[in-house]
Amino acid sequence: WCKSAFTGTLPEIPGPVPNVDPWNPSHDYDYDLIVIGGGSGGLACAKEAMTINPDLRVCLLDFVKPSPAGSKWGLGGTCVNVGCIPKKLMHTAALYGDYARDAALYGWEGGVTKNHSWQTLRDNTQDHIKGLNFGYRVELREKGISYLNKLAKFVDAHTLEVSDKKGSKTITGARIVVAVGGRPSPLQCEGAELAITSDDLFMKSEAPGKTCVVGAGYVALECAGFIQGLRQAEVTVLVRSILLRGFDRDLTATVHSALLHHGVNIREGVMPASISRQDNGRLLVKMTDGSEDEFDTVLAAVGRYADSPGLNLEAVGVRTDPKNGKIICVNEQSSVPNIYAIGDVVHGVPELTPAAIKAGILLAHRLFAESRELMDYSKIATTVFTPLELGTVGLTEEAAIDKYGAENVDCVMSSFQPLEWTVAHDNHEGTTCVAKIVIRTDQDKEVLGIHIAAPNAGEIIQGLAVAFRKGLTHRDLLGTVGIHPTTAEEFTTMKV
Ligand code: FAD
Ligand code: NDP
Repeated sequence: WCKSAFTGTLPEIPGPVPNVDPWNPSHDYDYDLIVIGGGSGGLACAKEAMTINPDLRVCLLDFVKPSPAGSKWGLGGTCVNVGCIPKKLMHTAALYGDYARDAALYGWEGGVTKNHSWQTLRDNTQDHIKGLNFGYRVELREKGISYLNKLAKFVDAHTLEVSDKKGSKTITGARIVVAVGGRPSPLQCEGAELAITSDDLFMKSEAPGKTCVVGAGYVALECAGFIQGLRQAEVTVLVRSILLRGFDRDLTATVHSALLHHGVNIREGVMPASISRQDNGRLLVKMTDGSEDEFDTVLAAVGRYADSPGLNLEAVGVRTDPKNGKIICVNEQSSVPNIYAIGDVVHGVPELTPAAIKAGILLAHRLFAESRELMDYSKIATTVFTPLELGTVGLTEEAAIDKYGAENVDCVMSSFQPLEWTVAHDNHEGTTCVAKIVIRTDQDKEVLGIHIAAPNAGEIIQGLAVAFRKGLTHRDLLGTVGIHPTTAEEFTTMKV
């Protein structure tokens, strides 16, 4: 491309030009809409389409390919089975351990330091998930959506081959939405197959025990946090570069200290060189710095890839990013006019459940209710559920400076201890929470970003995210009368 730019024969790069969907309501296809993938986005899109028009013929396909370690699960996708739900429940279990420890200083006597039972936590979590799996199936049946527990693959732009162990057949659809999500990327070192991933952790029959977590993103730090919090055995995190790339650095430094305070070992710049099974059944990890250690579990949390290989997308003309297999879309429409995509499989959108759901609902309205409302992926709040949660919406200080220049950006920040920690101060000594507001100085003190590392950060940031979307200014925050004594109140008093 570069060469041809200089020689003057620059070819046209196929651009992301929106296409006209050749929708004809009196088509001859089996279905008006086929959704591939029964996760957060796919379920939302299929159900919304039927709510808009109960006469539509909608089919939802969902098939779970077992993980390399053999784990599989039911309808509902990543979030319900191997993501948000089990993760948040296990995070909560770990927090109960912290509360129990603090409880002694609040006057509760005895019984709070007994061992944690992984089996009880796992069974109760899995029971809840099975209830959700069943609920989704019932909901699909009640709405009149055809649910096929089959693996889909494109034959042409309107035809899918769908298969299970009993065989395969083809079905056709006027419009097809791809919502196949992603799967964890494997490790690349010798013996990588001995590591498990988040696809296996939550349903593991034995407690993870002494664990080596590889990676330093959301999944790695959340899992390291709750495994350590269950106080089964020590947890070591191997970090290739930095913790939580893309988050505000003041906040990640706070989360880092809190993880250390919780007892997690964090080894920066160290990776596994090899993993091997010992005679005692444990896993020997040799590290890139020459050190080695034995673990019960190695958890690979080094990112996720789009689950698009095997869909035969390129053969039908759907453009994907060769680096990660994600589908290139304009407003959820792919390069093939009747094929759409939502959720984690879409190139350049946040990999978050509410983003997938909202995109699916809005798409259903544009396809079947003549809506023009587009999905807005900006200003989406998110929280990392580490022992000290990190909630954030908007720009980090670094990103704000890049965008608006250092002279136009100011930050107010507060380092504090929540009231709840003061009575149990022995357990929290040396740790702090941090709240930070990034402000644009040249624009009426418009808030560019809000960040907090504190207990319940997810709950705090969700409320503020609404005000943020509406164009919140620092003056609005200072003009708000706080709720005392809360942690969120911090945002109404920060001036320095
Ligand atoms: P998925 O939910 O992954 O669903 C895709 C479905 O398609 C799957 O069931 C899959 O089996 C099926 N499928 C794939 N290929 C085919 C095929 N060819 N034929 C038929 N079916 C197929 N997000 C948050 O917002 N908050 C959190 O706290 C959070 N925690 C997370 C924790 C973990 C450990 C992980 C891994 C993710 C977490 N996420 C969280 C991210 C969230 O789970 C995803 O963003 C969300 O599930 C994406 O939804 P989706 O519909 O795009 O895909
Ligand atoms: P992330 O992209 O967040 O993190 C990947 C991590 O793996 C980074 O620390 C990265 O390091 C590291 N890494 C990548 N490749 C290698 C390698 N070859 N060797 C060693 N380390 C490597 O991915 P996750 O899987 O943690 O999460 C995926 C997405 O799922 C998130 O972006 C988020 O959108 C969603 N999610 C949301 C949650 C929530 O809302 N609470 C919870 C969990 C997931 P480096 O920085 O050096 O590249």
